[in-house]
Amino acid sequence: MARSRYGCAICGYDIRWGRSDAVWLREFRAIYSTADGYFISGVGHFKFQSENSFRAPIDPTNRYDDDDYDSQLTEDFDIYKNRRNRTLCDVYATHDACWSLLQEAMKPNEISPQRFVDICESLPLAALFCPFWGHNFGGIFDFDLNSGYPWERQLEKNLSKSEASLHVMEDPGSIPEIPEILAKTVQESSNTTSVRLIVQMVVEPKDCFSIFPWEIREMIAKKLPTSDALNLRSSSRSFYPLLVSPAFWASRFEVGIDRAFLVEKRNVAETRDWLALYRNTTYSQSPPGLKNRRRIWDLIENIVPLLSLSSIEGSEHGSTNALDHETSDESVLVLAEANILTKSERDRSGVRAAEISTTKYFQNQGCRVFQKQYTSLPKDLTSLALSFVRLGDSGYLCGIRVTSQDSKGIQLGYHSEDTLIFNVDKRLRGFILAIHSQGVRAIQVLDGNGKSEWLGFPKDTPVTERLAVENIEEVQVGIDWGILATDDAKFASI
Ligand SMILES: [Zn+2]
Repeated sequence: MARSRYGCAICGYDIRWGRSDAVWLREFRAIYSTADGYFISGVGHFKFQSENSFRAPIDPTNRYDDDDYDSQLTEDFDIYKNRRNRTLCDVYATHDACWSLLQEAMKPNEISPQRFVDICESLPLAALFCPFWGHNFGGIFDFDLNSGYPWERQLEKNLSKSEASLHVMEDPGSIPEIPEILAKTVQESSNTTSVRLIVQMVVEPKDCFSIFPWEIREMIAKKLPTSDALNLRSSSRSFYPLLVSPAFWASRFEVGIDRAFLVEKRNVAETRDWLALYRNTTYSQSPPGLKNRRRIWDLIENIVPLLSLSSIEGSEHGSTNALDHETSDESVLVLAEANILTKSERDRSGVRAAEISTTKYFQNQGCRVFQKQYTSLPKDLTSLALSFVRLGDSGYLCGIRVTSQDSKGIQLGYHSEDTLIFNVDKRLRGFILAIHSQGVRAIQVLDGNGKSEWLGFPKDTPVTERLAVENIEEVQVGIDWGILATDDAKFASI
């Protein structure tokens, strides 16, 4: 009899036997580790009340419905069985449709199974062995808003009554209405000529953008979110022809822009009425499957930056032997940490601070620290580069780069595209942290100029001034696989 159930590590909804036409809910992949390494399975088929509910082919190119499935090597990824038998180390599962969308979003790069497992391992678990990414999976689950503080909110198993939850069983991969939506917007020839005519009519000598040819203005607009580009059109007549620019509307379907979820349409060079396609794929116009895909795609866009973070390997970085590191006799170690108990835990223990259990499974709060790093701060420190990652509706500090006049810099943690440079004036006097149970969300730097603005995501997060220590000699951090975890973040000072 089936013992295990998995929540899809990407979309949050169960891998389950649902509606008879919702086959995609049963098709899954396991991402897992063994003593030999990290792997992605082929496509398995969840069986309800079966001894082999989570059996899947070992080879990622194989599927449960292959003609030769009976002769393929398979593995049972049932998490309870594996905890007993210890054949696998860590197992996470996703719907095959969700994994395919993640592959699409990562192109041209491949997904590293090791990176995926390590990130999942560093996160607390929500229901059904599903990593808790810090969001409510696009509105399909309810947060408990009535007990505890905002930073204590827990994911509940119950589906919410939101519109998104109405579509959770709709196949986000194969959507029958898409061929018809695309067919409606096929066009024989482009209307580039009409754009040129309009451009010639609206040239404004006092408009700074008018010194550029239309192709350059179009390139600027293509880099912007649609709302920003349309605002630009409202404020500058040089962008007036944007509404009839096929190249601009085609760019809305590229990775990172708001219609990227329509993965069937990545050939943006073809002739098509792209504006009509854009209008036909608004949320209200979309068929149910596309609504569910849009929800999942938004979740995936949170995961891609974590999978793509620059590794600390191979670059100049802080020492990783912090556990063995001895600070000098005169130094004082100041610790900032966020072992925040939930309300129920506080009620049981009657105390405000206590160690949080780091049980491998059923972990509800905090992140697991995989590595510790430290570096001495140079006397001629010139700047700190603070890297952040977004997770859910907030974000976290994921790396710090310390730069002096004489060095290129020492990296602690990860570098991300979302990096702020803070130029240190005279001397570093400490930090004020907005610190969540899963990591550091925001930081204020204290230097000769006083206190900086908040850098990061301080909203609804407890603040500590324990690291406002006047003189800092070393920085030591605990790192999980995506963010600077806070269950062991230490800064040394004299
Ligand atoms: Zn899924």
